[in-house]
Amino acid sequence: MSSFPRADSPLDPSDLRARITGAIVLPGDGDWDGARSAWNLAVDQHPAMVALPESAADVAAVVSHAVEAGLRVAMQGTGHGAGARGGRLPGTILVKTERMRGIEIDAAARAARVEAGVLSAEVAAAAGEHGLAMLAGSSPDVGVVGYTLGGGLSWLGRRYGLAASSVLAVEIVTADGRIRRIDAENDADLFWAVRGGGGSFGAVTAIELALFPVAEAYAGMMLWPIERAGEVLHAWREWTATMPDDMTTVGRLLQLPPILAIPEPLRGRAFVAIEAYYLGDEAEGAALVAPIRALGPEIDTVATIPAPALQRVHMDPEQPVPGRGDGMLLDDLPPSGIDALVAAAGPGSGSPLVSLEVRQLGGALGRPAAGGGALSHVDAEFAVYAVGLAMTPEMGAAAGAHLAELREALAPWLADTTYLNFAEGDVPGERLFGPYAHHRLRAVKAAYDLTDVFRSNHPVIPARSV
Ligand SMILES: Cc1cc2nc3c(=O)[nH]c(=O)nc-3n(C[C@H](O)[C@H](O)[C@H](O)COP(=O)(O)OP(=O)(O)OC[C@H]3O[C@@H](n4cnc5c(N)ncnc54)[C@H](O)[C@@H]3O)c2cc1C
Repeated sequence: MSSFPRADSPLDPSDLRARITGAIVLPGDGDWDGARSAWNLAVDQHPAMVALPESAADVAAVVSHAVEAGLRVAMQGTGHGAGARGGRLPGTILVKTERMRGIEIDAAARAARVEAGVLSAEVAAAAGEHGLAMLAGSSPDVGVVGYTLGGGLSWLGRRYGLAASSVLAVEIVTADGRIRRIDAENDADLFWAVRGGGGSFGAVTAIELALFPVAEAYAGMMLWPIERAGEVLHAWREWTATMPDDMTTVGRLLQLPPILAIPEPLRGRAFVAIEAYYLGDEAEGAALVAPIRALGPEIDTVATIPAPALQRVHMDPEQPVPGRGDGMLLDDLPPSGIDALVAAAGPGSGSPLVSLEVRQLGGALGRPAAGGGALSHVDAEFAVYAVGLAMTPEMGAAAGAHLAELREALAPWLADTTYLNFAEGDVPGERLFGPYAHHRLRAVKAAYDLTDVFRSNHPVIPARSV
C-alpha cells in the first residue's frame, strides 16, 4: 500500500505521453500556467503535472500511471469548485477533462449521455432542441459532472428533485484502472456513493442523465434599489410559504462592480432582487408573481423564456473570475432571520459581497428520492450562497471575513448539514453528508480506493476497518 504524497515520485511522463492521445503538461512547459489554472482565478493550483485526456482510455492510463508512480489524482471539470480544495496539490496529477465534450441526446428515452468536460449550457442547448431539459443549476459554464456528483440544485429542483437523483448511469475509472459503467444493478454501492458524495471515488468519464419535458418557463428577475432590502425580503419570505412546487424563488442582495461584463442598467449599482422560476403557463405564473410585482420593481425581466435561457437569468459570470464564496443551509428564515441577514449584508453594512442569495428549497428537493444516492434530498428550507470578488488576496480575505460574520448572524437558523456544492474550505464529512451517509461513503471509499488515490475538493477518507 502506498502513501501520498510521495516526495520521491518519478515525474517522468514520457511513457504516459506515449500511451494517450491527450496531453501532459509539466511545470516549466510553455503552457503550464494556462494548464494549471482554474475557473476560480483566486485559486493558484500547483499540481505535480496536468493531464488533458481525450477519452476514457486516456483517463485510465493516467490513473494507472499515478498509482504506479505513487501520485494522487485530482479531477477537474472547470475549476468552479476549486476554492474548496485550494491550490495545494503536492504529488498530484490534476486531470482536467475540458477536451472530453461529447453529448448524445436520446429524445425518445428522455436521456442524455455527456462526457466529463461538458458544460451545463451545452446540455441545455442540445436537450432544448427536443423540448427537454436537464436539472441544471444557475451557471452556464459549470461542469455537468462536478455539479451532479455534488448534488445539483436546479431551478427545476422543487418539481423534479436533485440532479444527482436524475443520474441513470456513470462511466468511471476506479483506482484499479478499470473502466466501469455503474448503475443501480452494477457496482450499486459505488453508484450510490457518487450521486451526492462528490469526486472521491474515481474518475468519471461520462454520465447518463434523465431529461425532463420542460421546453419553456415563466422566469426572470425583479430588482429594487438595495435601500428597500428589508421590505422586499420580508415580502419575499412570506410569499415563499404559499408557492407550489412548480415555482422556485430566490431572494438576493447584489452589489455589482462597475465592470463592462455587467450590463449598463445594473453596472456599479446595488439591488435587492427576487428571482422567480415557474414551470407552468404565463397566466398562472403572472398571478403567482403578482404580490411581488406589486412592490414596483425598477427592473422586471420575468417573462416566458425557452428552457435553455434559464441558465442566464441568475447572471452568473460566464468566464473565469476570482472569487471567495461559501454556502450554508437554513432550517428556517423567520422575520428575525431576514432582519439579521439585512443587518449583516444589506445597505450600510459595509459588506464586500457581490452577491448573497437565498434559494428556496422544499418540494421534491426535500423528499428522499426513490433509489437515490448519498444525497437524495436536502433537509433544510433554504440554501444560502454568498460570494465576493477576490482580485487580490486582501479582497479575498475581506470577503472571507464577511462570510464568517454572515454565518454568525444566521447561526440560530443553521441546519445540521451544509450543501457540498456551495461549501468552500474544509468542512467535516459529517456536516457535508450527515453521520449515516458519511459512514457509508467511507466504507465505499475503502472498498474502491483504499489508498486514497482520488483527491476530491471535499474528500471522503477511506474507512480503515473495512
Ligand atoms: C458561479 C457558480 C454558480 C453555481 N451554481 C450552482 C447551482 O446553481 N447549483 C449547484 O448545485 N451548484 C452550483 N455551483 C457549485 C458547483 O456546482 C460546484 O462548484 C461544482 O463542484 C462544480 O463542478 P465543476 O466540475 O464545474 O468544478 P470543478 O472544480 O472542476 O470540480 C469540483 C469537484 O467535482 C469533482 N469532479 C469534477 N469532475 C470530475 C470527474 N470527471 N470525475 C470525478 N470527480 C469530478 C471533483 O471532486 C472536483 O474537485 C455554482 C458554482 C459557481 C462558482
